[in-house]
Amino acid sequence: MKGMYSFIEGLSRKEVMEIKACTQCRECLRYCPVQEVTGNVSISPAEKIRCYREFINSTAGLKGWILGKDIDRRLLEEFTRAVFECTTCGVCGEVCPVGIDTQRLWPMLRRKMVKRGLGPIGSQAQMPGVIEETGNPYNQPPEERYRRWFPEDVEISDKAEVAYYAGCTGAYQAQPMVRSDVLVLKAISKPFTMLDAKDEVCCGFPLFITGQHELLEGLVKRLVDAYREKGVKELVCSCPCCVNMMVKDWPYYYGKELPFRILHITQYVVRALKEGCFRINREIKERVIYHDPCYLSRGVNVISEPRDVLRAIPGLELLEFEHCGRMSRCCGAGGAARKVFHDNATAMARLTIDEAIEKGADRLVLSCPACYEKVNEAMNDYHRKIPIVDIMELLVEAI
Ligand code: SF4
Ligand code: SF4
Repeated sequence: MKGMYSFIEGLSRKEVMEIKACTQCRECLRYCPVQEVTGNVSISPAEKIRCYREFINSTAGLKGWILGKDIDRRLLEEFTRAVFECTTCGVCGEVCPVGIDTQRLWPMLRRKMVKRGLGPIGSQAQMPGVIEETGNPYNQPPEERYRRWFPEDVEISDKAEVAYYAGCTGAYQAQPMVRSDVLVLKAISKPFTMLDAKDEVCCGFPLFITGQHELLEGLVKRLVDAYREKGVKELVCSCPCCVNMMVKDWPYYYGKELPFRILHITQYVVRALKEGCFRINREIKERVIYHDPCYLSRGVNVISEPRDVLRAIPGLELLEFEHCGRMSRCCGAGGAARKVFHDNATAMARLTIDEAIEKGADRLVLSCPACYEKVNEAMNDYHRKIPIVDIMELLVEAI
């Protein structure tokens, strides 16, 4: 293995320090949802870090130079599986006393394994080719991106200060969600623009999260330049993974600061409510429970806005999960692992369904297309069911 990419090359100083700083206190083990449903200790944050630290120690510096020690391929493969089985939910980083930013660290370690030819896993490997071909990771026709869900009577401006990005998962897999986004934007009555269906390509998140970074610069430049040409000042999106990618990684791949702000749709709606741009007319007398998506709460700290939207609906009673806000428990859909580790994802989604029912909620409110798709699917062949609704879908009912 000597002579191949080192285990440190390509990681930031912060990431290397984080790997060195883990005290193996194992506090994180108590919160990991994958650990909870599999009981597999090798997936645990502490074990992944211990393993990777061992790779570094065995190959870097004087010891590596003198001994030229190879890493056993079996160990590397086991580590690769563990780092790809993680949902990158990041709750381990939230409770880590050392403050390791695990939601960031795991994708970077995945990238290292991809560089070594060990990752990605399963169908993830087809993503770059499929995205290059179709602009989305689901191998769907680009011209159909908006076709099945876009409301008929909504006008899109050619140029506007506000743009809406639907995202691949919403457009192809969680259509009630993106349809409701557009209906809410219509109700707000401010002009907004969108790219043509074939030009609204993937935001890059599935490639970033699976460690396949080669196409990212091209995708990001194409999107940012297209919105800049439309005079966009604010880009609104409802998918937490897209928002996370846009806020944290687009500036890097674009090579400079973005010429517009990124807003999650709940941030845009809360501001519109405060400015009196639209009214909520109907009462909804229900108890609902809101699930914080990992990449919205821990990712970009959007926690109060979804709750502000829900509290603005008269009659609605808002319940909370035991673990909510920055401590929310992953629904199982994260980290591009839901298709590859299907059983884990289903078991995690069912924990969310169970708790929502036990808390006495009439409906489970989601705010992420991946959660929407996964939780819905997890109710197939399951004895417990709860109606699910996207937050904008619920808002449309009230306006
Ligand atoms: S990011 Fe989530 S799934 Fe991955 S190790 Fe941490 S707690 Fe477990
Ligand atoms: S909580 Fe942090 S320091 Fe403790 S074992 Fe987990 S990753 Fe390491």
